Amino acid sequence: QVVTRFAPSPTGYLHIGGARTALFNWLYARGRGGKFLLRIEDTDRARSTPEATEAILKGLTWLGLDWDGEPISQFERRERHAEVARQMLANGTAYKCFSTPEEIAAWREANPRQPFQSPWRDAADLPLETDGTPYAIRLRAPREGETVIDDAVQGQVRVANDQLDDMIILRSDGTPTYMLAVVVDDHDMGVTHVIRGDDHLTNTARQIQIYDAMGWPRPVFAHIPLIHGEDGKKLSKRHGAVGLHEFAALGYPAAAMRNYLARLGWSHGDDELFDDAQAREWFDLPGIGRAPARLDFKKLEHVSGHHVGIMPDAELMAALDLFLSETGTDPLTQRQRDRLVAALPALKEKAKTLPQLLDQARFALIDRPVEVDDKAAKALDSVSRGMLSALTAAVQHASWTRDELEGAAKQVAEENGVGLGKLAAPLRAALAGRTATPSVFDMMTALGREESLARLQDQTD
Ligand code: GLU
Repeated sequence: QVVTRFAPSPTGYLHIGGARTALFNWLYARGRGGKFLLRIEDTDRARSTPEATEAILKGLTWLGLDWDGEPISQFERRERHAEVARQMLANGTAYKCFSTPEEIAAWREANPRQPFQSPWRDAADLPLETDGTPYAIRLRAPREGETVIDDAVQGQVRVANDQLDDMIILRSDGTPTYMLAVVVDDHDMGVTHVIRGDDHLTNTARQIQIYDAMGWPRPVFAHIPLIHGEDGKKLSKRHGAVGLHEFAALGYPAAAMRNYLARLGWSHGDDELFDDAQAREWFDLPGIGRAPARLDFKKLEHVSGHHVGIMPDAELMAALDLFLSETGTDPLTQRQRDRLVAALPALKEKAKTLPQLLDQARFALIDRPVEVDDKAAKALDSVSRGMLSALTAAVQHASWTRDELEGAAKQVAEENGVGLGKLAAPLRAALAGRTATPSVFDMMTALGREESLARLQDQTD
């Protein structure tokens, strides 16, 4: 069974790169009937905060990535990590090193550009007058040959063993190092595939040495290139949004983010737009590229528009509700909801993001009397008001379908010797109070007879 995991450090918000890593792991597991686990790497006590953990869980939940079981705290597993370090001592793959920081610094000065070689490595059998002296536990790493990573994305990566020192696995204060903790956790959690950013590639050689020392099978490693900005440079604040929550606040629905992020560094032929089921079915490791993907807001907007357009109304309403609450806006009233739902079919085909949709939906969210802005007010002269009265009379008993309304409007325009546009402008002003709106007939059908006629009457009485 495939087991993947996402292992964020809770030191800040969920970065878009982290969200993509989580998505890849989730897709890989979910597409194979496997498990997707969550491990919070909170061993750095100074930098880890419960708020950051909350933010990460919230981000994953928003993105729709569900994990199996409870999130695991790495810090809470420190006893287990120490136990493995002691096992390694016992089986000879690790040793006690009593070198002090001063001694290590002196050694480095005498041997520039060389990895530190502890004098205690081969002193294991010597009688030690070291009772109570603090020591670190170091891995007895191979000095000759190479450590070879068979990476599912990067191919074979070779590291000469003489470039790696005997890393510390348990510090002199008894705390495990990050390198040990990751390996022990991945092993104990039964992780079969480690999919993570390629900034961890150099750690992998060291982690492999721990797997080998314990005689544990190595997982499959897949190191994915980081995300770059549009200019090809490493993604940073300068490029705009970098936190997943910032993308949510810009109004890209989660379904669109999943689609877009899946394509960020992974591809399936020319497929750009797909749903979750397809992504789960298609996602694989060979499709991950070796070059850094570039975050492209135009593409994201395109993908977002597609998903807004095809999203079932109930799902879209839920996304809008969430967006409104997250941006600190009042929840919709029942009347607003009813009108918005009625307007959705016309709105969702054009809007690319949730705020764009809400902006177009403004006519449905406002109440009478409609405040008319200066630009729209220009269309409300006495001739136009006369036409609105005529239209009101003409549609009084209409069946209120789009076709019938349009037919009536065309007739009124014709009778007044003007084009439909000349009537649409004041109609727009009366219904929405502004010039940028959806089609007037879409607005009328969404508002219904009573409300539409009342808005017209407000301008003609
Ligand atoms: N905690 C690490 C990070 O936040 C990830 C470690 C891993 O995936 O092995 O970058």
